[in-house]
Amino acid sequence: MISNDLFDLHDRVAIVTGGNGGIGFGIAEGLAGAGAGVVIAARKRAKSDAAAQKLTGLGAQAIAVEADVTQPRDWGLIVQKTLDRFGRIDILVNNAGVLLGKPPESYSLEEWRSIIDTNLTGAFIGAQTVFPEMKRQGAGKIINIASLTASFGSPFNVPYTASKGGILQLTRGLATAWATHNIQVNAISPGWIDTDLAAGVRARVPNFDERVVARTPAGRWGRPTDFAGVAVLLASRASDFITGAEIPVDGGYSIQL
Ligand code: NDP
Repeated sequence: MISNDLFDLHDRVAIVTGGNGGIGFGIAEGLAGAGAGVVIAARKRAKSDAAAQKLTGLGAQAIAVEADVTQPRDWGLIVQKTLDRFGRIDILVNNAGVLLGKPPESYSLEEWRSIIDTNLTGAFIGAQTVFPEMKRQGAGKIINIASLTASFGSPFNVPYTASKGGILQLTRGLATAWATHNIQVNAISPGWIDTDLAAGVRARVPNFDERVVARTPAGRWGRPTDFAGVAVLLASRASDFITGAEIPVDGGYSIQL
């Protein structure tokens, strides 16, 4: 019987921003299931501690770091605590994100900046901060969570869509810059996924649930667990020649007319 360890993440260490719930926890659980040590980095300490405890309860190695991805100092803390606990950084998942929907003319500059800072600048700072360690190790995987709105227009989410369009270009730029260091940088674009972030839209837009299900070939909303497999692929040796790619995880939403 032949076998391979293409997807094995034992002895690998992943930082997952926003890993205390939603898609981020689905990814953290998937990476932990493949053997990785996981660092959950998010603002709400109790929620992050509970997520890390859930992973350790499942037999994984996990810690939580209280951090705001918009703050360079917090990124220094994330890296330091990761190295203190695990001694290496192999995988960064830039998943933390916020959404505030309203007509474009009604955003304050502070609201615009807060969305761009969290969804785009935070990912850039994160990538910059882990780069020296990945370069030193001679390998690394960066996974950025984009969105179908990186490519579709959306009248009520202009700063969000701008931040996600930026994430795709950040992904492609870093992929080209760091390919020779054996660092692969890829993006995942979720369709509509049943999380706290989407709950706000569901509550605001009439018949939204039904519309999403009708528009999605798979006939259902996505779940955080739908991200485990693609995260393991992009975090593992199986994807060593994949870089700068965007992988939709959307039940076919983006390919049906
Ligand atoms: P959730 O609201 O469930 O999760 C968002 C996560 O981001 C939370 O863990 C939150 O933790 C963290 N976060 C927010 N701001 C910061 C910050 N400044 N610093 C650190 N962590 C932060 O949403 P989802 O799971 O749905 O979203 C995850 C990603 O997926 C986001 O990037 C989102 O844009 C993207 N996405 C989601 C879709 C969906 O349908 N759900 C569709 C397309 C993309 P805390 O509050 O503790 O900081």
